[in-house]
Amino acid sequence: MSEALHILKEIFGYPAFRGQQAEVIAHLTQGGDCLVLMPTGGGKSLCYQIPALLRDGVAIVVSPLIALMQNQVTALHELGVSAAVLNSSLSLQEATAVEQNLLAGECDLLYVAPERLLTARFLNLISHVPIALFAIDEAHCVSQWGHDFRPEYIQLSVLHERFPQVPRIALTATADMETRQEIIERLGLNTARVFVSSFDRPNIRYQIVDKTNSRSQLLAFIQAEHPADAGIVYCLSRKKVEETAAWLAEQGLRAVAYHAGMDMQDRSLNQEKFLREDGVIMVATIAFGMGIDKPDVRFVAHLDLPKSVEGYYQETGRAGRDGQAANAWMVYGLGDVIQQRRMIEESEAHAKFKQVATRKLEAMLSLCETITCRRMRMLSYFGEAVTAQSCGNCDICLNPPKVWDATIEVQKALSCVYRTGQTFGAGHLIDVLRGNLTDRVKEWHHDRISTFGIGKDLPEKNWRAVFRQIVALGLLTTDSEGHGALHLTEASRAILKGQQPVLLRQQSKPERLSDKRQAVELKAFDDNERALWEQLRVWRAKIAKEHGVPAYVIFHDSTLLELVRLRPQTEDDLRQVTGVGVRKLDKYGHDLIEILCGI
Ligand code: ADP
Ligand code: ZN
Repeated sequence: MSEALHILKEIFGYPAFRGQQAEVIAHLTQGGDCLVLMPTGGGKSLCYQIPALLRDGVAIVVSPLIALMQNQVTALHELGVSAAVLNSSLSLQEATAVEQNLLAGECDLLYVAPERLLTARFLNLISHVPIALFAIDEAHCVSQWGHDFRPEYIQLSVLHERFPQVPRIALTATADMETRQEIIERLGLNTARVFVSSFDRPNIRYQIVDKTNSRSQLLAFIQAEHPADAGIVYCLSRKKVEETAAWLAEQGLRAVAYHAGMDMQDRSLNQEKFLREDGVIMVATIAFGMGIDKPDVRFVAHLDLPKSVEGYYQETGRAGRDGQAANAWMVYGLGDVIQQRRMIEESEAHAKFKQVATRKLEAMLSLCETITCRRMRMLSYFGEAVTAQSCGNCDICLNPPKVWDATIEVQKALSCVYRTGQTFGAGHLIDVLRGNLTDRVKEWHHDRISTFGIGKDLPEKNWRAVFRQIVALGLLTTDSEGHGALHLTEASRAILKGQQPVLLRQQSKPERLSDKRQAVELKAFDDNERALWEQLRVWRAKIAKEHGVPAYVIFHDSTLLELVRLRPQTEDDLRQVTGVGVRKLDKYGHDLIEILCGI
């Protein structure tokens, strides 16, 4: 193992292994198969990169995304590791050169797309060289039920049949049990050792706020907490993506858009901008994200409700891969609940699918409406044994909501639904309850029914929160015609009869959590340190541009922070800094010392 640690320090410049990395590396290096389940940012790549260097021969890494492969290889080159990609983006000439290198035994890691790997030509090629291991990245792509399904992944079982003596490692950040089981079955990993890490992402702060005006709420959030940071904003529809991106740009932010309806070129242009430049905001549908391994995404914002906790976890998980503080922020309102329910109702899918979708949505809604720690809820949803009551880093823990007895108000709301014939949406119902004489109220003579004006004492905003929660709780549902008309459910009967009290969350004050923000070191900088930090960033941007790589490939923010904090003045001191390996010391040591001594 000391050899692995040596490589970690010398080549990658990291002082210690994280979580289960050391165990995984030892197991694989000794020739064992394994399945590694680690959250995003957990450090999966090192689990096969170090064994690739320790074992004889080339490590073949299967990855579904061309951009991702290229990024990994670029980062490895920066570290002085011999690695290559083989995929459809190469010219014939380039591909031949890679193949020759491979045959000459000059390649330690080869990244291939699954369809290329499965060709007779490629399988034949690698039968002539010693193979260190097979790594199957994003292994959840074998799952037919997941949205990242890749048919070629299923055929990857051929690797074991053709090369039974070569150890295999499958890796994924997908947390749910069903997918795990599917990976094991489809890839024939029944005897593989399974390494499960906690899926907690302690550096991510979860926050779900009541939706009032999502755009201005978003802007306020970005301005207050992330004025110059990279982030992702998820919206449900393509139209909303475009409008939101344009609007943020008008407000002076560096926002770009991404959705599957855009033409290929614009899409990849925007993606490149997001990956390479500092502080770009990507506004996107969920088509964007898989395989995006940008480590310094500081926030993920949702303007619409995700369909499931799995989706929410995966999307928010793209924040803070580098382990530094990050925010997962979402606005959520009655409209979201109605919209998601309607989408399930109206989908063409068969009954079984609708049932599953409904169950997943219910779990998501209860995460939104919870009055206990969001993190603990999520972890226990994924089957983790939860030991603590609170995490101290979600909105619930930082600003616990009050609960109030809303039985009477809910009864008023439900009977108003009943008296108006169960054919109206929340807006009109609230008008009736509050006694607003609108045209619609007059037209339907709803000023003459017994529930007219019985809810005057509660402001409209609070009524909306009441309706949102009772819809989320399943006390009201929408009709299948999809006009947002609410009607009673089986469950509402007991409430109307007064047999059951209803406790609801108090409308949370839109208090800013930033005051209670984690002590991000940046904020604690004095002027001198800030100047040094800026200078290092400028230098990094220049080098990255010269090399044609994203800035984080040169050095992570965490390395720059450490440089500012420790101010190393000699090469020996520099070597102690996390993220500075021999190769980078060689290339950049001189520049860095000049900057560090100059200030
Ligand atoms: P994953 O693929 O699991 O999402 P990565 O392999 O991309 O995660 O690793 C996330 C980040 O953490 C990378 O920037 C990586 O360099 C860094 N990292 C991984 N292992 C360590 C470690 N032992 N010490 C410090 N940083 C690490
Ligand atoms: Zn919490």
